[in-house]
Amino acid sequence: MSAYQIIEHEYDVVVVGAGGAGLRATFGMAQAGLRTACVTKVFPTRSHTVAAQGGVAAALANMADDSWQWHMYDTVKGADWLGDQDAIEYMCREAIPAVYELEHFGVPFSRTKEGKIYQRPFGGHMRDYGKAPVPRACAAADRTGHAILHTLYQQSLKHDAEFFIEYFAIDLIMDGDTCRGVMVWNLADGTLHRFRAHMVVLATGGYGRSYFSCTSAHTCTGDGNAMVARAGLPLQDMEFVQFHPTGIYTAGCLITEGARGEGGYLTNSEGERFMERYAPTAKDLASRDVVSRAMTIEIREGRGCGPKKDHIDLHLEHLGGDVLHKLLPGITETAKIFSGVDATKEAIPVLPTVHYNMGGIPTNYLGEVLNPTKKDSEAVVPGLMAIGEAACVSVHGANRLGCNSLLDIVVFGRAAAIRTAELVKPGEAHKPLPASADDPAIARFDRLRNANGSRRVSEIRLDMQLAMQKDAAVFRTAESLKAGVKSVTAIADTLKDIKLADRSMIWNSDLAEAMELENLMVCSVTTIVGAEARHESRGAHAREDFSTRDDAEWMKHTLAWCNDKYRVKLDYRPVHTYTLTKDVEYIEPKARVY
Ligand SMILES: Cc1cc2nc3c(=O)[nH]c(=O)nc-3n(C[C@H](O)[C@H](O)[C@H](O)COP(=O)(O)OP(=O)(O)OC[C@H]3O[C@@H](n4cnc5c(N)ncnc54)[C@H](O)[C@@H]3O)c2cc1C
Repeated sequence: MSAYQIIEHEYDVVVVGAGGAGLRATFGMAQAGLRTACVTKVFPTRSHTVAAQGGVAAALANMADDSWQWHMYDTVKGADWLGDQDAIEYMCREAIPAVYELEHFGVPFSRTKEGKIYQRPFGGHMRDYGKAPVPRACAAADRTGHAILHTLYQQSLKHDAEFFIEYFAIDLIMDGDTCRGVMVWNLADGTLHRFRAHMVVLATGGYGRSYFSCTSAHTCTGDGNAMVARAGLPLQDMEFVQFHPTGIYTAGCLITEGARGEGGYLTNSEGERFMERYAPTAKDLASRDVVSRAMTIEIREGRGCGPKKDHIDLHLEHLGGDVLHKLLPGITETAKIFSGVDATKEAIPVLPTVHYNMGGIPTNYLGEVLNPTKKDSEAVVPGLMAIGEAACVSVHGANRLGCNSLLDIVVFGRAAAIRTAELVKPGEAHKPLPASADDPAIARFDRLRNANGSRRVSEIRLDMQLAMQKDAAVFRTAESLKAGVKSVTAIADTLKDIKLADRSMIWNSDLAEAMELENLMVCSVTTIVGAEARHESRGAHAREDFSTRDDAEWMKHTLAWCNDKYRVKLDYRPVHTYTLTKDVEYIEPKARVY
């Protein structure tokens, strides 16, 4: 242990992650006078938030009548009644000021003729409690995440936050049940850093890379989720993984739902607009789980497009070059590069692709991480918060609506800053740490750096990704999930035999990827074990053997603890069946009708 020299830092708050969630929290904390550090493994504006295309949801009513109560209804329904309604109320109500705040920070939104923020229709965004589509997605062309992330980074620079860029967080420093800081590796010079803080905020994003085909960046490896699991805390609702209907065939890159919002539609090999059969009202703009399942059924029943009948066609060519150039320039370019298609002239080949992780670190709507017990399902972990895609608040429940994640990251990034300012006094002294507090993090780092088995990181990772793709897919059965639990667990066992070629400390990407692989594995096993155990279909979790939603038995959050041998223990906690304020009524579960 003593072979590593450790550099000490003391802050009021440390935020891990500089995507939209991390940056919104970082400058909110700095604004509140807290000494704030932001640690990030990639340069802030390279975080996955930059790739978000379609928009951020808020009932601004710029293009048609809208209300945040309708937005709340859609979100509860989209979540298939697994979302916590107090948190959903908070998010949808705060959405309107949050988007105006973004506008005032300088986000260059597209504009209507009158100069208002442009809004486009999106899947599951409806008026009048589900009656007809409404344009609610506030968009900056099809580069909304890019616009938001750059603006938030500029705001962060305006305030006095300190950035530690290309610093890789290894593990939390725990003192009993309390989080006291985080151990970090500086990729550029190989030094190790102990960050002590009164509050650690995990904003590390999702874990799309557990799968072979996903829309997320290579850096989306669930690091924060795994740090929490290694601290002995549970993850929540990990079995709920969203497949986006329109990933580019073979490449997996995203074609935003905004493309269908602007009038794009899907056809099968017979040229039929099949969504009219599956979802007569919302059609191509039904929620993502519905469209992904419909596409999978079309392909399975032999109506897939192309020589192999293995994908679906997305048509935008009728919209015309002008509309595509003005409102969807990014995806027109993506289609050209990744499928060689000129979207102004021909259909884009698409396939459902992993897109979003509804599950993650359980928190309340203030951002505080939960450690639920039988006596207290709302017990919090002192000193620890989680926000953004890493967290499970849970506002997305069993399935996230489009544009609710860019919303979630700004609303809960801000909420975490507000709550921390209540809990932490600027400059408060740090108590001494127990001598062994950071041993587990350093031991893990050292073990991996010197790993001398026979299997390379890339081999184990590919095995895991293919197994997840095959067995924790759009449709699931007891058979596929049982086989998946067995194969993913067996692949996890091969981590003991991992081999690293590079033992250096400086820009050792082999070591960074090995740590990321361990993190992904925690996410993969908790996902597939949770999925096998859930005997119902809800939101993105579609079981062929249990095809209906079972509220009596399963309207509850899954909690999954993963030990250091990648074995998972499950338990459950109640969904919040109450709202935040008296003036908003709880929305009773309804059957799904489209
Ligand atoms: C292609 C694509 C398009 C999307 N489009 C939309 C959309 O139109 N609307 C919408 O609402 N949502 C969209 N989403 C979803 C949404 O963009 C993401 O869920 C959201 O941006 C996640 O933000 P985040 O801040 O939680 O994480 P990220 O933006 O992923 O950032 C994670 C941060 O954590 C840091 N980090 C991770 N691990 C470590 C570690 N070990 N040490 C140090 N730092 C670490 C990274 O450096 C990074 O800064 C889209 C997603 C994708 C993939």
